[in-house]
Amino acid sequence: MKRGFRSSLLALALVAPCLAQAQTAAPAPEAPTGRIAKHSTTANQDMVAAANPLAAEAGRQILAAGGSAVDAAVAVQLVLNLVEPQSSGIGGGAFLLYWDGTKLTSLDGRETAPAAATPDRFMGPDGKPMAFYDAVVGGRSVGVPGTPRLLETARKRWGKLPWADVIAPALKLAEDGFTISPRLNGLLGQEKFLQSDALARAYFYQEDGTPKPVGTVLKNPAFAKTLREIADKGADAFYSGSIAADIVATVGRHPTNPGDMTLDDLKRYKVEEREPVCGMYRVYRVCGMAPPSSGGIAILQMLGIVEGQDLGAMKPGPEAVHWLAEAGRLAFADRALFLGDPAFVDVPVRGLTDPGYLKSRAALLGAGRSIGKAKAGEPPFQKTEFFFAPSEGIEFGTSHISIVDREGHAVSMTTTIEDGFGARLMTRSGFLLNNELTDFSFAPTEEGRPVANRVEGGKRPRSSMAPTIVFDAAGKLYAVVGSPGGSQIIPYVAKTLVALLDWKLDPQVAVDLPNFGSRNGPTELEAGTEAEGWKLEIEAKGHEVKLIDMNSGIQAVVVGADGLTGGADSRREGVAIGN
Ligand code: GLU
Repeated sequence: MKRGFRSSLLALALVAPCLAQAQTAAPAPEAPTGRIAKHSTTANQDMVAAANPLAAEAGRQILAAGGSAVDAAVAVQLVLNLVEPQSSGIGGGAFLLYWDGTKLTSLDGRETAPAAATPDRFMGPDGKPMAFYDAVVGGRSVGVPGTPRLLETARKRWGKLPWADVIAPALKLAEDGFTISPRLNGLLGQEKFLQSDALARAYFYQEDGTPKPVGTVLKNPAFAKTLREIADKGADAFYSGSIAADIVATVGRHPTNPGDMTLDDLKRYKVEEREPVCGMYRVYRVCGMAPPSSGGIAILQMLGIVEGQDLGAMKPGPEAVHWLAEAGRLAFADRALFLGDPAFVDVPVRGLTDPGYLKSRAALLGAGRSIGKAKAGEPPFQKTEFFFAPSEGIEFGTSHISIVDREGHAVSMTTTIEDGFGARLMTRSGFLLNNELTDFSFAPTEEGRPVANRVEGGKRPRSSMAPTIVFDAAGKLYAVVGSPGGSQIIPYVAKTLVALLDWKLDPQVAVDLPNFGSRNGPTELEAGTEAEGWKLEIEAKGHEVKLIDMNSGIQAVVVGADGLTGGADSRREGVAIGN
């Protein structure tokens, strides 16, 4: 991602009219990065933080009209489908955590492999795993989308406004058009595969093959028609009938890499309610998404492992990076071995998050020296033994939405089409399809043993998405956090939680802190930030350090005694706004 996209001033200019509704707080405390691109936003009643100003504004309007956090989430998601199409939409999947004031519920709208999928799906004719983009581009990587059914399920349970009302903001933008943002334009410029799809080319690019410029008013009548049908008939309009037929045809007609999704696969799609994974971190209760995401467990593990250290006294810097990176190594070693779809794999959730187990893992670490490559542990209460799993890279195809409504109910939702622009397939119905199936391990076995996250028909690929909700010592809602970033989501969210809970940083400063961590490889520091200056000290503890781009998109809303404070990652175009 190019630094230029971090132009949050532009993002703020786009949203200036709606910021009138919320107050911008006094200048945020000096960020340790020295990069104060945005200020925290405060609001008395409610707040939405999302990756695009138009999407956040749609959510704010729904909240102002008396909608619930879930109503606002539906509106934000559908607008994101238009204005941030590279990241999420109805052709993808999502995880949603909902706090209703007394109970936390999580819904799994993860994409699912077609029934016909087999473990060798991403193996080439040479018996080796396919190159990543050979697998991604085309129908082979497309999972049955979960987002439409997820939105409908959540709204039926927790919505207050009519279904058509929460769809209306996106419908209006699809019909009247919206302006192409600098980030979308920039990503279209870098994109190598999208133009091979004729519908996507016509929608996003000019005749000469350059992306439609920033500020172009883009209309999407096909998506408007789709939204109308969904408004009339509910998500059934997506999972059967002409939209479903269009998805199946789009997946199946790719000339070199067709998929095998059927109408039956779509008809059978189900949202799963899961028990959220929760654990204590100091006085706070931190809750996240259960498998098939690895995000919730890995973050609880990291926090549990560093809990014995006085991170509050350390402040952001080499020492804190050492401990969090070491905790990341241990968490990612377990993640690789144990995590997969719980319908197919016995994930020892209780053992992996058991405080005694985490203490025993923490005991492996020392202040002076990195442990290097960590091995998976032996969590208690474990029924089955596994496995292996390769790691993934950094993607752009995800977005996070944090919302708190006037009743103090909250949504933390991370939503994805996996890679930037997904499978690079645009349906005639006006939306892009995901490539989520490449979140499965390509190799079905390693050293003769099956891989937990191998492809299987009807299975959900392992995720790293980590929508998170934090409660304070009194059990009251305290923070709503999450981020895109592929497997980097785990260190991004862990960093933000430590910044909020240990360093007591303002949410905007917390999200903008340099990113860092380890996924059980090198210790990674965010290039172009003050973290570069920490490198030598961290290397002195035996870490192999890599400076890399760490393009998070963290959205954080914190509930305080005097109202809400929100921060949206300065690395992207998002804003936090409220009433
Ligand atoms: N597909 C990834 C996952 O579910 C997220 C990709 C991203 O964050 O860009 O973990």
